[in-house]
Amino acid sequence: MPLTVHQFACLSDNYGFLIRDEATGRTACIDTPDAAAVLRELDDLGWELDFILNTHWHPDHAGGNADIKAITGCTIMGPAEVTRIAPLDHEVGGGDTVQLGETTFQVIESGGHTLGHIAYFDPADRVAFVGDTLFALGCGRLFEGTPEQMWDSLQRLAALPDDTRVYCAHEYTASNARFALSVDDGAALKARADEIFAARERGEWTVPTTIALEKATNPFLRAPVLAAKVGAAGQPDAQAFAAVRAAKDNFRG
Ligand code: ZN
Ligand code: FE
Repeated sequence: MPLTVHQFACLSDNYGFLIRDEATGRTACIDTPDAAAVLRELDDLGWELDFILNTHWHPDHAGGNADIKAITGCTIMGPAEVTRIAPLDHEVGGGDTVQLGETTFQVIESGGHTLGHIAYFDPADRVAFVGDTLFALGCGRLFEGTPEQMWDSLQRLAALPDDTRVYCAHEYTASNARFALSVDDGAALKARADEIFAARERGEWTVPTTIALEKATNPFLRAPVLAAKVGAAGQPDAQAFAAVRAAKDNFRG
């Protein structure tokens, strides 16, 4: 596979991702949750960093930009909102492409968690980095955007190929599963939740996930099907989504 993804855990529940286009050795870091951790992983791998690709401005995603750039001299790409807290060299947005050696990433507008949030999709390798938009069995909180905006963003991600490997930025899956079971009693979800609880008991990661798995079991993508369970029967899809999101925000599992 021409793109190598190196995943590592950092901060309390973040994942960091270092990626390398094997044809050219070009290397990028998806977000910068923890500069020291990113620099240590680069050292261990013997990789030199060319780019930072940011998904959104939150400190656990862009907070390491300045320190990592100072040491590696890398170029930082991301949405304009990153400049609220961190340096940015090139603004990119939905519909743009980003080139990492011979690997092309499509930039997908995915606002809702923050207004300018973006995701990066590599169609050749079927790999997507989705930041805090889509999680395994979950989705990001709506800190800045509307339910309509987030629903549209999630639909763009759900439209990616079923076998796309989805790299989410946090390990929230076990608590997401507890909420999901409160609104969905489907067999697919029950089976997946059992696997997730067992995997977490063993200390294993549940990221990456896939688009197919999320479409089958994620209660936010399944909001139209679950509408009655959250008091939104007969309402438009975005309203059903809003009701699931509100139920999660109030869930004490
Ligand atoms: Zn965030
Ligand atoms: Fe985050």
